[in-house]
Amino acid sequence: MEHGAKIVIDTRQLVKIYQNGSEELKVLDDVNIKVSNSDFIAILGPSGSGKSTLMNILGCLDIPTSGQYYLDGLDVLKASDNELAEIRNKKIGFIFQKFNLLPKLTAVQNVMLPLLYRGVKEEEAWETAREKLSILGLEARLHHRPNELSGGQQQRVAIARAIVGTPQLLLADEPTGNLDSKSSGDAMEIFKELNRQGNTIVIITHDIEVAEQVRKIFYIRDGKIHENG
Ligand code: ADP
Ligand code: MG
Repeated sequence: MEHGAKIVIDTRQLVKIYQNGSEELKVLDDVNIKVSNSDFIAILGPSGSGKSTLMNILGCLDIPTSGQYYLDGLDVLKASDNELAEIRNKKIGFIFQKFNLLPKLTAVQNVMLPLLYRGVKEEEAWETAREKLSILGLEARLHHRPNELSGGQQQRVAIARAIVGTPQLLLADEPTGNLDSKSSGDAMEIFKELNRQGNTIVIITHDIEVAEQVRKIFYIRDGKIHENG
């Protein structure tokens, strides 16, 4: 963390317990992390270690069982639904591990959505979405629906949708997991450019090449998180 940098993500004693019937599964156990503005960090950890769970909490899509979470100074667990929707729509770009594209919309329509939510006019949104898809090598796939695209192509649409509005905070859950090394490199260049513009990036990855390019790494194991500079 740079001296005097603004803290964007601040979690305190986050605990997440899933209840499966009578079984309790403690997935996050006293997770404290701070991420400052324009940081680029990676979260690593074995499969099932709680990475997606943490990411969903950071993205205000899920709530912890206990603990606190301050996002850009806002006490997320005390925020209203409207405030949370506003944050999700205007501040955060989220790349889901399973893409979560809308099946009835074409690639370009999926990517336009965040811009339309922000009140950008349809024509301008279309042009910006087309441009992002074309940078990701999908110029010829604009009008395809998700089920007409390969896993790697869907992932690139999901990346385009997450970055199209230049989000202040990008949360990316294994965003290169389905990509070949060229597409993966292209995606990393897009993330780095977003970061150079002063935006904060948190990326979950298994890819050592990706992890080597970030500024700071957190490891999750047995519910605990460890920082490695
Ligand atoms: P990772 O992303 O690191 O693979 P997850 O956060 O997806 O890990 O899952 C962590 C653990 O919590 C796993 O054992 C998973 O089966 C369990 N889990 C995840 N989501 C739920 C849920 N909604 N209900 C119950 N258990 C869950
Ligand atoms: Mg996961």
